[in-house]
Amino acid sequence: MDRTAIGFGEGHTPGAEWFDELRRRRIKGPISTQNRSLSRSLAPETLAVHAGTYEDPITGAVGTPIFQTSTFLLDQASYDAFADGALRDVPIYSRYGNPSQWSVQEKIAALEGAESAVATSSGMAAIAATVYALTNCGSHIVSAYDVYGGTYNLLREDMPSAGRDVTFVDPLDLDAIRAAVRPETQLLLFESLTNPMLKAPDIRGLARIAEEAGALLVIDNTFLTPINVRPLDLGADIVVHSATKYLGGHSDLTAGVATGRRKFVDRIWAQVLRFGGTLDPLVCFLLERGIKTLALRIRVQNENAVALAGYLASSPYVEAVHHPALGGKGHEALRPEDYRGFGGMVGFEVAGGDERALRFMSHLTLPYVATSLGGVESLVSMPANTSHSSLTRRQMSTIGINPGLIRFSVGIENVGDLVEDVQTALKTACEVEDR
Ligand SMILES: *Cc1c(COP(=O)(O)O)cnc(C)c1O
Repeated sequence: MDRTAIGFGEGHTPGAEWFDELRRRRIKGPISTQNRSLSRSLAPETLAVHAGTYEDPITGAVGTPIFQTSTFLLDQASYDAFADGALRDVPIYSRYGNPSQWSVQEKIAALEGAESAVATSSGMAAIAATVYALTNCGSHIVSAYDVYGGTYNLLREDMPSAGRDVTFVDPLDLDAIRAAVRPETQLLLFESLTNPMLKAPDIRGLARIAEEAGALLVIDNTFLTPINVRPLDLGADIVVHSATKYLGGHSDLTAGVATGRRKFVDRIWAQVLRFGGTLDPLVCFLLERGIKTLALRIRVQNENAVALAGYLASSPYVEAVHHPALGGKGHEALRPEDYRGFGGMVGFEVAGGDERALRFMSHLTLPYVATSLGGVESLVSMPANTSHSSLTRRQMSTIGINPGLIRFSVGIENVGDLVEDVQTALKTACEVEDR
């Protein structure tokens, strides 16, 4: 076996000390010479299809093979990697790395405009590894009081006992965020679009605060995806995703990713290695296949959500609609040129409260009533009895979760069909049944 012939472990010399140097040669990857390494300046539609694909030299397969193996034959490159501490760049054991991971990681890194990415077994695995890897005991983290529930629980339940103090703020209030920063602040963790109120914080502003504080800015870009915004271009240091949502796009897998400069991602990768949240090769394949259509799906979901939000804003059965395209307080600083769109999520309050909202959902014939988001199929749920059910009514109203609030993850169905279904269900729930 000669794996150096197909590019694994290429360039390794025993005793190389590059891994200790900040300006080491290895600034992207891990990647083999078989992976398509495309210019980051290509359009996202092109990168989504082609970036990272493993071109199999033996069969000429057009797609990345599934490297369904837990371990790899040891050869000189593997021993060199052990000696150099370069375990991330040579296939040795799948928890450390696997070519199936490398392909999908390169695709995501290319889309986010990053040097490197690490794929994980869930979004929470990526977020937990990132938070632990980029902070130390005695440090301080600033995040939003309405971050994703799993993230909130991690920050609230696990960080204090791990010696990291956390302050929760309104993500749209830059003054409050600046005021929360302390000398020991190491991490700012925010979402490019929040759940369920769809607040879009000013990423450029957050990046300025992080820089002044000497802290790192982590952006969870799950709701917008790199098709709509690339936080690294706006000054963020790390982007994390629940790839379970839009990146996968078909509600058929659980995965996560952290991406950014290689020196940061290497640290996150080492944490993933220790926590054990590696991504299985079969799921890598599903995720890579899903991302090939990301740009197409997001374009349609952007349009469908705007159309649905527009309809809802005109409905007599709807109290309020939340969607960044409708503008709103706190969004003044956003530059339109930074965003291609605002994704497929719409929040709205059914007039008359939770009971009416429940009835409305039961009358829908197309969308599924389910939690999660980002798939090709529309999903609806109520934050009050799902994602945010552990909050008190007062905590909910602080966040803005009013009675009757529905979270609608718009799919790629025909928007006329969707609007008609919503219209009929609203009318039935709010009029017919009240008679
Ligand atoms: C779903 C979600 C997560 C968690 O991802 P999992 O894949 O379920 O672990 C994190 N952040 C956001 C914004 C999410 O929507």
